[in-house]
Amino acid sequence: MKRLILLGPPASGKGTQGNLIEAALGVPTCSTGALLRDEIAADTVLGREAGKYLSKGQLLPDDLMLAAVRGWIERRRGGFILDGFPRTLVQAGALDELLAGWSLEIDAALYLDVSEEVLEERILHRVQCTECRAIFRLGDEVADIETPCPSCGGSLHRRKDDTPETLQLRLEEYRQKTAPLLGFYRDRGNLFRINGDQSSQSVFKEIERVIGKAESKQHS
Ligand code: AMP
Repeated sequence: MKRLILLGPPASGKGTQGNLIEAALGVPTCSTGALLRDEIAADTVLGREAGKYLSKGQLLPDDLMLAAVRGWIERRRGGFILDGFPRTLVQAGALDELLAGWSLEIDAALYLDVSEEVLEERILHRVQCTECRAIFRLGDEVADIETPCPSCGGSLHRRKDDTPETLQLRLEEYRQKTAPLLGFYRDRGNLFRINGDQSSQSVFKEIERVIGKAESKQHS
């Protein structure tokens, strides 16, 4: 199980699970959202363009997004976890084509299914470390935003797009453009639904079970 996709709405836990799977399987994760936020912070040409979309909770145009991730996927084609890509049917088709060029394909698409009430609640309490990128729950795992990161001591911040207004726009983009990918991967027999409403450790345990099952199916 070396080429995995994480699917799910904003704040469904893709980033957290991507990090856990990366540590367990030893394959690198590409978070397209984090990649774009780094470009914005570095004020690159891509970052300036991407910023226009992120601030409005909209997806970047497919050609721009593809250009931004193609090189990363090419370098890591031996094994990777994609967190936040593909997010449209056009991107999924382009990813298939890219992999087919090396006679490769996606092993599994893991769908983190989370109810909208839980998403909203999570987003409004989500803080992230600027150094190690670990995600914490405000008022629970960390007392306040001034608390040093429990993992590395770095400083915590909130994402600019984690507001109730932007969440609604991001959810609308998800329903219209990303949700159709569930049918796309289901039809190919490599969609695995995970109950994302649980604690991150329980979600990860379910992912481990699913990966184990998918691997035995591949080898039978
Ligand atoms: P995320 O951190 O995954 O929630 O992504 C944050 C934002 O980055 C999204 O709301 C989009 O504006 C942009 N983005 C991330 N991945 C993609 C993608 N595959 N296609 C288009 N836009 C993306």
